[in-house]
Amino acid sequence: MSGIYIHFPFCKQKCVYCNFYSIASFKDKDAYLTALAKEIALTSSFLPSNNIDTLYFGGGTPSLFSPSELETVVKELQKYYLFSKDLEFTLEANPEQLSSDYLRGLKSIGVNRLSIGVQSFDDEILKLLNRRHDAATAQKAVRDAQTVGFDNVSIDLIYDIAFRTEAMWRTDLQTALSLPVCHLSAYSLTVEENTLLARQISQGKHFVPEESDTERDYAILIEETAMSGFEQYEISNFAKNGRISRHNFSYWTHTPYLGLGPAAHSFCDNVRHWNVANLRQYIDGIAQGTPFVEKEILDKNAQYDEFVLLHLRTCFGVDLNEVLSRFGDRYVSHLEKQLTNVNPAHYQRDGNVLKLTYAGRLFADAVAMELFV
Ligand code: SF4
Repeated sequence: MSGIYIHFPFCKQKCVYCNFYSIASFKDKDAYLTALAKEIALTSSFLPSNNIDTLYFGGGTPSLFSPSELETVVKELQKYYLFSKDLEFTLEANPEQLSSDYLRGLKSIGVNRLSIGVQSFDDEILKLLNRRHDAATAQKAVRDAQTVGFDNVSIDLIYDIAFRTEAMWRTDLQTALSLPVCHLSAYSLTVEENTLLARQISQGKHFVPEESDTERDYAILIEETAMSGFEQYEISNFAKNGRISRHNFSYWTHTPYLGLGPAAHSFCDNVRHWNVANLRQYIDGIAQGTPFVEKEILDKNAQYDEFVLLHLRTCFGVDLNEVLSRFGDRYVSHLEKQLTNVNPAHYQRDGNVLKLTYAGRLFADAVAMELFV
């Protein structure tokens, strides 16, 4: 199993919280598509197999590209790769771009999963986040997707927004869960460096949420999703009817994947590569046949740390038998020893499998760090 991720680094405007690489100018859009085609050819032997199970168009905003532009990318990929019969082909989209015609166009080129950046169904909050859509547009986009025949739709929501009340968050969630969606990703609003939000906070224009609000919002998230039949399969991800994201899952299980486009990451044989997060440098590097790529080789300790961090975040937990077979008994002993430092309320052992408890899920990264070598 292997997958391909393509980063489309363009956005109409920057959302306050966002630190993904994207720019709000389209002048290099065609040059980007030309570079992407060349990068597809240059990297065609990177993956151990040319059979692809997941294809993910993310960004940035891939839905700023027309279906025919996206189709040229698909056709370039098909020169080198075989798409599996049940390929999961996801496109990230913003609600305001999802007209019925556009949705039909996406369907015609093989997109079968949508990840829609809704973030909230509250118009005031959407303005605060500098999103371009309103709540009515978001609801219509999800319903239109269903009408056009998309049965695998995910939406993103953000919680932990200062001064949003418990009732407002519940309403947001209930609205989301009443729509024809089978997957929900919910992220706490974090203040990343070099974002508009960080600047606004430093100027006193934004409030920072209290820690107690994070816990409150997370508890409501768990409660509302469970009541609607969603399974929490990862700290921030919930799926109904088994519709977990195969793309996300391949990241967490270290399946080989190839990332194309500026700032995209690739992973294979315990080596991580990433492209330069600068569109101009990306285009120039590809044009000269010398892509601007950095790489990190994960040694055994780093592999173990990542394994623990990623697996602990999922509902499958950390299987000590797997730790033994992958890394050896020294790592199992280390994990057992470190576990004595972890708050017993934050984890449970089910035979040889270690999982976070409900209370522990709020401290997933801290628990994992305690277990690191
Ligand atoms: S959150 Fe999405 S739409 Fe907003 S700036 Fe970031 S990549 Fe663009």
